[in-house]
Amino acid sequence: MRVKTVTILGSTGSVGCNTLDLIGRNPEAYDVVALTANRNVTELASQAIKFNVQYAVIADEDCYQELKDALNGTGIKVTAGQQALNDAAQLSAEWVMASIVGAAGLGPTLSAIRRGATVALANKECLVCAGDLMMQEVKHHKATLLPVDSEHNAIFQVFDFERADSVDCITLTASGGPFIKFSLEEMAEVTPEQAVAHPNWDMGAKISVDSATMMNKGLEMIEAYHLFPVHQDQIEIIIHPQSIIHSMVSYKDGSVLAQLGTPDMRIAISYTLGWPARIDTPAKKLDLKELKRLDFLEPDPVKFPALRLAREALHMGGTAPTILNAANEVAVLAFLEGRIGFLNIARAVEETLTQFAPSPLTCLEMVHAIDDEARAVTQKIIGRM
Ligand code: NDP
Repeated sequence: MRVKTVTILGSTGSVGCNTLDLIGRNPEAYDVVALTANRNVTELASQAIKFNVQYAVIADEDCYQELKDALNGTGIKVTAGQQALNDAAQLSAEWVMASIVGAAGLGPTLSAIRRGATVALANKECLVCAGDLMMQEVKHHKATLLPVDSEHNAIFQVFDFERADSVDCITLTASGGPFIKFSLEEMAEVTPEQAVAHPNWDMGAKISVDSATMMNKGLEMIEAYHLFPVHQDQIEIIIHPQSIIHSMVSYKDGSVLAQLGTPDMRIAISYTLGWPARIDTPAKKLDLKELKRLDFLEPDPVKFPALRLAREALHMGGTAPTILNAANEVAVLAFLEGRIGFLNIARAVEETLTQFAPSPLTCLEMVHAIDDEARAVTQKIIGRM
């Protein structure tokens, strides 16, 4: 059996752990080259030992010594810092899982892309903040990008890339998050604990809050625009509270192709890990008789303004999605830390967007500059809330 070499950027997170769960079920099929984390030394060290990796990399340099001590005598090389993350992505693993959360994942993801690796992309924020530029890098370096986000993974499975003009539209399904039945008054009072308790998916804190505001679906709309050959107005969003249909492609002949499954990220991850083959997963099998019904409804634009903001940013193009993403990252963190209320997340993003004149995004240095500038503006706005 051929052994696949893999690196996981963000191995201690929800996607990272699910990826290692799949690898651990068939360990002789994989050789794990490098694992990375931000600050979670305990989990990273335990993963590194279990999977006998060559490199364990911690982004926060203050954690270096602790990781070094934890891996003393194992022979595992320990590195730290931003450049070390980029170096880890450059090591010769043929498959790289990009599962760092936020724009912080852009540099390492680009490092893997620039050596033409096969990159399983979970880190949607990097595609939102640097979309066209990142896709140019993918093309230029002949890298392979495999979508991990369950919606994009679903579309990837049923999209006819050979005949893209036969596609009428793509429809991203959204669970609607935990507050779908809440009134605006109730939403104003929700706590971070309520917001991270997603009804269907077990995910990291940031994406869980994004799901609750539905900014997640807005980010996914921008992500879909870059991943698939469709126009902006060919991307639709529908709420499907059971999260069984992960997304669909409507063709001009009236056929609609969807991918279905129980809400378990290991299905989407496995599709990218085994690609082009399919591999077994322990995910619960879909039983439609047990499920009995599938529901669908329109998102409420008043309760979920983040969707409108994301669509406007996509239409504006240039720096707008970069600003949207940066502002959202800052606002979500402020909400998680109890500094602003839930409804103020979208307000902070909207106010940030209004403070920038639209301008084209011409190079990656500009992404970092605009990202920094937008974060500073959002911090100020939050300070006044
Ligand atoms: P988590 O918060 O669970 O994990 C994030 C990972 O990134 C951790 O390993 C974390 O390390 C690391 N990390 C965080 N900040 C930094 C930083 N500044 N520099 C380097 N590494 C960092 O996130 P998820 O796994 O939930 O999500 C990861 C990405 O995948 C997100 O972009 C999300 O939108 C996307 N995604 C997630 C899904 C899910 O099911 N969770 C589904 C679809 C997409 P540490 O543990 O040390 O903090």
